[in-house]
Amino acid sequence: MKKKFSKTEAKEKIDSFFKDINEKTPSEIKKIKKLAMQYNIPLKEKRKLFCKKCCSVYKSPQIRIKNKIKIVKCNSCGEFNRTKLS
Ligand SMILES: [Zn+2]
Repeated sequence: MKKKFSKTEAKEKIDSFFKDINEKTPSEIKKIKKLAMQYNIPLKEKRKLFCKKCCSVYKSPQIRIKNKIKIVKCNSCGEFNRTKLS
């Protein structure tokens, strides 16, 4: 991928992408992750919207909270994604 946008433009692209995240496919999410990495844009909270392993959007994930750690099970690949609660 060539650098076509400025960092601000890339950021806007990412923000609008995540507005209708539920409509996106894993391959589209992989692309946007690459874009974010390329422009060094942190996804922060947005990362929690999809599985880090297979990049599927969480539709109705199983969520458990244990010792201040939130465990989300991906419906597509079965991967457990852990996030610390602050
Ligand atoms: Zn997954």
